[in-house]
Amino acid sequence: MTALRVAVVGSGPSGAYCAQLLTEESGSPVEVDVFERLPAPFGLVRYGVAPDHPRVKSITTSFAEVFDETPGIRFLGNVQVGTDITLDELRANYDAVVFASGAQVDRNLGIQGEDLAGVHGVREFVSWYQGHPDTKTDAFALNGKRAVIIGMGNVALDAARMLAHTPEALRATDVPEHIVDAFAASTYREIVVIGRRGPAFAKFTNKEFIELLEVDSCDVVIDPADLELDAQQQAHADADPAARRLLATFAKAAERGVLGRNTAIRFLFDCTPVELIGEESALAIRLAKTSDPNITEILETDLVLRSVGYRGAAIDGLPFDEKSGTIAHLDSRVADGRNVLPGVYVAGWIKRGPSGVVGTNRRCASETVTSILADVAAPGWTSTATPAAVVDELLRSRGVDVVDWTAWQSLEQAEFAAGEAVGRERVKLHDRAEMLRAAGVGVGVD
Ligand code: NAP
Repeated sequence: MTALRVAVVGSGPSGAYCAQLLTEESGSPVEVDVFERLPAPFGLVRYGVAPDHPRVKSITTSFAEVFDETPGIRFLGNVQVGTDITLDELRANYDAVVFASGAQVDRNLGIQGEDLAGVHGVREFVSWYQGHPDTKTDAFALNGKRAVIIGMGNVALDAARMLAHTPEALRATDVPEHIVDAFAASTYREIVVIGRRGPAFAKFTNKEFIELLEVDSCDVVIDPADLELDAQQQAHADADPAARRLLATFAKAAERGVLGRNTAIRFLFDCTPVELIGEESALAIRLAKTSDPNITEILETDLVLRSVGYRGAAIDGLPFDEKSGTIAHLDSRVADGRNVLPGVYVAGWIKRGPSGVVGTNRRCASETVTSILADVAAPGWTSTATPAAVVDELLRSRGVDVVDWTAWQSLEQAEFAAGEAVGRERVKLHDRAEMLRAAGVGVGVD
């Protein structure tokens, strides 16, 4: 029996779950090629989930088992879909193509001064400290006094925590050694996290905020006056137990007060960013009270991180919903209005937008797999896929240095060895050429 052949674009949580669920749920043989533009798998788990969250990151062990142990699932790293192989070529060579390429763009604030030096989307900052090969190793020099983070989601808390950690805490993670050095040299002593609404509407979770309170190198500064709720916040708190729990933890933080620790993380509520001020670099941010825009304040700052959510990037040839930053779909089938593009599907953040935890993507991938399997079970459906060797030859003929699973395992071993050399468990390789060398492919291989 010929196997169903599926191409999955993206090896993050939704792509890995799709590959796993396709083989688990199809009653007949399936071959899944997981394409990844980076030399390393796991997308946002490797490059998004905070380095000091090893429990969440350990999901990679079960994703690795999928690639290691499931016959028919292949990892094709260092392959850029759209350049190295086109959408049309994927459609011609596979029975189904699933885009699980995530949300790769920082949302903008749309205010004056956003393009000044010193203003960054938080994703750039996160990617840098996670050793993402698209970022320069020296992209950030942490040599200012006050950093401002705009937004009160979990990503904002991740960034704030990283700026507050001691080098010892960072050495327990897998961030590259030069990143530990950059944080060790940081002169930031105040980090201001700005929310446009009141504390009842903070988007980060209580668990993450408690974790911040447990970082003993930093103070968490909350003005008790901010916890006096207006009617709208009170109604929200009354209706939402999660908001009540978070407000209770805010109250504890306010009560603990300032203990004179190395770094202070200060939470400012009800503040709308109006303008970033400076000639070439941002020197200050102008804020207005959201509840009374006539009241404004200028806060001097040396670094501004916009942490106001991510959005997906448009993909050539696929219908894109600009407003939500997602690929339009009907039950995971890519669709322009009511017109379904046969054989093309979506999963994860590019399908539903950037929300939820890693596990949310399993449910999402399951819906996608259900649609694929229903389509191929429909009367009259016939496979048009080509054997794996056809795509392999296509990539070879274009000189694409594919990092397969074995090559990735060599790269991983190099990361463990690099860790051992400096007394750490593992350190990520940051530089793309170095990664490829360690994987034994392409540039720099003798
Ligand atoms: P998020 O949870 O959507 O938070 C975005 C924040 O930006 C909100 O506070 C939002 O305020 C604010 N914002 C949006 N537009 C703004 C504007 N124009 N001006 C000022 N503020 C603005 O996004 P995220 O932090 O990027 O997180 C993405 C997803 O990943 C979430 O589901 C998150 O829980 C998840 N995540 C989870 C973890 C974890 O579990 N440890 C870690 C990281 C991320 P409003 O509420 O007023 O819109």
